[in-house]
Amino acid sequence: MRVSTKDRTKSHEWHKRAQRSLIEGVNSPSRGDAVYAGGPVVIDRGHGSHVWDIDGNEYIDFMMSFGALIHGHAHSKIVEVVSQTIAEGSHFAAATPAEFEAAERFCRMVPTAEAVRFTNTGSEATMLALRLARAHTGRTKFLKFEGHYHGWYDAYCLGAHGHPFDQLGLRQNPARIADSAGIPSAVLDDVILAPWNDLEALESILRHFGRELAAIITEPIMANMGCILPHDGYLDKICELAHGYGALFILDEVVTGFRYAPGGCQERFGLRPDLSTFGKALGAGFPIGAVTGPRAILERMRWGDGMVLHYGTFNGHRLTMRVIAANLDLLTGNDGAAYKHIYAVGDAAIAGLRDIFRRRQIAAIVQGFGPMFQIYFTDRDAIQDYRDYCRYADTAKYSRFVHGLMDRGIYMTPSNGLHWIISTAHTMADVNALLAATDEACVDLR
Ligand code: PMP
Repeated sequence: MRVSTKDRTKSHEWHKRAQRSLIEGVNSPSRGDAVYAGGPVVIDRGHGSHVWDIDGNEYIDFMMSFGALIHGHAHSKIVEVVSQTIAEGSHFAAATPAEFEAAERFCRMVPTAEAVRFTNTGSEATMLALRLARAHTGRTKFLKFEGHYHGWYDAYCLGAHGHPFDQLGLRQNPARIADSAGIPSAVLDDVILAPWNDLEALESILRHFGRELAAIITEPIMANMGCILPHDGYLDKICELAHGYGALFILDEVVTGFRYAPGGCQERFGLRPDLSTFGKALGAGFPIGAVTGPRAILERMRWGDGMVLHYGTFNGHRLTMRVIAANLDLLTGNDGAAYKHIYAVGDAAIAGLRDIFRRRQIAAIVQGFGPMFQIYFTDRDAIQDYRDYCRYADTAKYSRFVHGLMDRGIYMTPSNGLHWIISTAHTMADVNALLAATDEACVDLR
């Protein structure tokens, strides 16, 4: 393999120009200089599993819009549906068949979905889930876990970024480091923070605060410190503990939903969350979020005294709703072929990467399975929580490694906190190209 995608002259020029009208030249810090050394690759177009930058370099994309593109770029069915729908009028902010066609499919696939409310982003979904939980329980505080990201809403901006290990405080009493300026301290006073994958610490924290909690929210697989799996039975236990204290169990499936199984991690792990939130893969590249659960909770949004308010001009956007229906048909059709494909390709990539690191004697592990995984440069056997990530993952080395891959035709974010995504568009040939590029990039790591 001798692909070189190093010449990114136009990317640099465009990025320079973009700085004049956009902060950092982008619309989210995760896309700019803070993550991409020397500036981002400026992407021009995509097709299937491939993207092209504005210099004309071709890459295999393993970032896939942070997981939104479950069918890759410009899937023919999605293009057809979008073209047809937009010609009829993109959105009416009124009742449409498109929204209940999407909702019916959603409710058929997600085990706990008695009804669904669509939002426009995952952040809106988690925001709404918390408001519903607070209204339902009449309580204000909630518990989130260190290193879990639930969007950029004020209440969730605590302990979601990596920090030097010596600043993290005790497990039983984690340091409360706000992820953003501009958040009133009163908002964060209502957030209880706990380490993940640690039942003892959770039980001890709940003994103090359990009765005050509206909810415990968790990602089923930690997807914002790479890819960290829950210990066996851990998520069931969180659910049981939450209920024991009269709090709701909210499962944030924004990353895992429609990815690990048709019904997300709640299907895969057999969980019964009170509320769950979705986004990303549900929209196959279009902006979306969703909250689901039992009617007894969701009906609180029904208009009337004491209702939970949820408005939004773009809620149930017709274009997106049509895309969702097509997406979910693609995912469920053909006897589950989409998931079999994603798992086969993902597992092959994981096995191949592990093999290269072993052969080249590089201290690195690959965590995850099937649709999503992450590489950590570490001497440890496993990264099990946020504290392990902050202490043992060599994130600078990971960034160097990914930059090396980007020079060799592989597109991925250099942020170790994110994860590799396999879509239905990826092929075994893509995996082979990734492995060849990895083998070469390892040489620069010494
Ligand atoms: N929850 C989780 C677990 C996420 O990873 C994200 C986004 N990365 C969100 C919520 C927020 O979703 P969005 O970016 O669509 O607002």
